[in-house]
Amino acid sequence: MRPVLVTAALPYANGPVHIGHLAGCYIPADVFVRYMRLKKEDVKFICGSDEHGVPITLKAKAEGISPQQVVDKYHGMMKKSFEDFGISFDIYSRTTHKIHHETAAEFFKTLYDKGKFTEQVTQQYYDEEAAQFLADRYIEGTCPKCGNERAYGDQCENCGSSLSPSELINPKSKLSGSKPVLKETKHWFLPLNDYSPWLRKYILEGHKNDWKSNVYGQCKSWLDSGDGLQARAMTRDLDWGVPVPLKGADGKVLYVWFDAPIGYISATRELLPNDWERYWKNDARLIHFIGKDNIVFHCIIFPCILHAHGDYVVPENVPANEFLNLEGDKISTSRNWAVWLHEYLDEFPGKQDVLRYALIATAPETKDNDFTWKDFQARNNNELVAILGNFINRTLVLTWNYFEGKVPQTGEHNKEDRDILDFLDSSKKNIGESIEKYRLREALAGMMDVARTGNKYLADHEPWKLIKTDTVKTASVLHMALEISAFLSVIMEPFLPRTAEKLGTMLDISKPDWNSSFTGQLMLPGHQLNKAELLFDKIDDEIIANQIAKLAATKAEAVSASNAKSEKEISLIKQSEIPFKDITTFDDFTKMDIRVGTILEAERVPKTDKLLKLVIDTGLDTRTVVSGIAADFNPEEIIGKQVTLLANLEPRKIKGIESKGMILMAEDKDGKLLFVSPQGTAPNGSTVR
Ligand SMILES: [Zn+2]
Repeated sequence: MRPVLVTAALPYANGPVHIGHLAGCYIPADVFVRYMRLKKEDVKFICGSDEHGVPITLKAKAEGISPQQVVDKYHGMMKKSFEDFGISFDIYSRTTHKIHHETAAEFFKTLYDKGKFTEQVTQQYYDEEAAQFLADRYIEGTCPKCGNERAYGDQCENCGSSLSPSELINPKSKLSGSKPVLKETKHWFLPLNDYSPWLRKYILEGHKNDWKSNVYGQCKSWLDSGDGLQARAMTRDLDWGVPVPLKGADGKVLYVWFDAPIGYISATRELLPNDWERYWKNDARLIHFIGKDNIVFHCIIFPCILHAHGDYVVPENVPANEFLNLEGDKISTSRNWAVWLHEYLDEFPGKQDVLRYALIATAPETKDNDFTWKDFQARNNNELVAILGNFINRTLVLTWNYFEGKVPQTGEHNKEDRDILDFLDSSKKNIGESIEKYRLREALAGMMDVARTGNKYLADHEPWKLIKTDTVKTASVLHMALEISAFLSVIMEPFLPRTAEKLGTMLDISKPDWNSSFTGQLMLPGHQLNKAELLFDKIDDEIIANQIAKLAATKAEAVSASNAKSEKEISLIKQSEIPFKDITTFDDFTKMDIRVGTILEAERVPKTDKLLKLVIDTGLDTRTVVSGIAADFNPEEIIGKQVTLLANLEPRKIKGIESKGMILMAEDKDGKLLFVSPQGTAPNGSTVR
């Protein structure tokens, strides 16, 4: 039996866990591992908090605490959420543990000694006031693509462009606010391009058929484009992380993406100090469960690191999921657009398995998918309550009513009985195969089909009527229903572990085992059952309406917070504090052709927050003007309004629209825009002198 190591992405320790995390990788990994354990495979399940990297240092600065305090707070929260939802890690470690620092440093040193890195001196921004090099996220400036003044050194969140710090206009250090200077610094790079032939063989030839198409496709486009396969720096200038274990590397740490996946190895060492290598070397099977944002690191970069080292196996599979959205919108921590696990547990106590069920049933296995509260309610009421719960409850209650809670005697199996037992057998096989192919929705549907079959069996035989005429036949029907229930307690365990345990207790059967044969002998006649309890209960419309209202309130709050923020920023610039411009001449003034015009049409420019496209009647022509007033005016409210237009401004293209002229605006004390219009009506085309 080959040892199997299953990892789930190390969550970043800067926030609590939400349903997107669970659906993306933790529940799929847990279902897989629980199944492997039921099959008595030699499996270990590894995870931990990723506690290094720049965002944690930024959060610490923002909150005025140390990075260690940030990660201590979130590590505890995340660990508890995973436990609450039955994610059955064998270990949940942390990358700030000493054993991880040692393991990652050793690993780096081995690669260094083998000559796997290239040393490169590059120019990097340095904050002279703070006396430190600036990570990309520590630099802010104006986006060269869209003009957003708050773009980061690696990305503009307004237009989505990925940037390098040197592209920013007016770069500023987020540490001191000063202008950073370029300074030389040395780093160690992994020349990924050297691994191209190996990667192509490993992934494109080796895993064409067994990797999920979304994963394989992303790898293929990376390898084919070649862009991704440049040398990547494996070190950073930062004071938070694993120090680079080389002389002359003071103030440098391992790149968080180098050290984090090695965290899987460290955690295995921590779990099994004397036996960890069995799960990482020789014939071990390594399987990484992740979300789609981590595909490149787990399929390309980490395998290159493992391959460069030489002693380790590389991943057999990386069954990444796509993203789960919430009520049609992307889940966002900063906008608080999420269902947080600790809040869910407060509001739906004891209903962990309901969420697990809903998240597996809507898992974003091959494309992004949407979680909605209505769907959650329907899954609970129409499937868990009406099918699974109803079947189990009827079976147990009737057995208590007619046979004092003892498994009744059964006669010879007839054709129908044998068909059902065959169906159970093939269901078990199909569900197992689906799980092994990482098709968990399919596997879950297979489980629910068994419950459906049980329900139909009871409805067909109506033991509540049969008991009046035929006790022997009733006994046989309930016996079969109990067999199906016992079977369900086994196959539901990977998906609904708490429910499986509850059902196991009700049936009073020992620990489930996937390998046992289901030939209708799980429930021996005379065996005493425990009292029946409801496995699930209905969720009312009102509760769901409350959840939807809560999200709506979140959205309204986020909008008003962002308005308040921008108003605050604007009010910092008091209009009266803007000095007068230099003296101009009358001749220069007369060069400006300022006219009165009327807005005929107005519409928002797609994909922008601030721009309106206006059609203006100038008296001489009708023309298009793009104006940055959408934050303050709705298109419909300004149609027909008279405005003042700088008509001979050089035309320019804004978002692909040619804008001819500019509307003149003033600001009120809160920074809200006001039209500068004639008092009374002037004919269109009147000049302003
Ligand atoms: Zn931009």
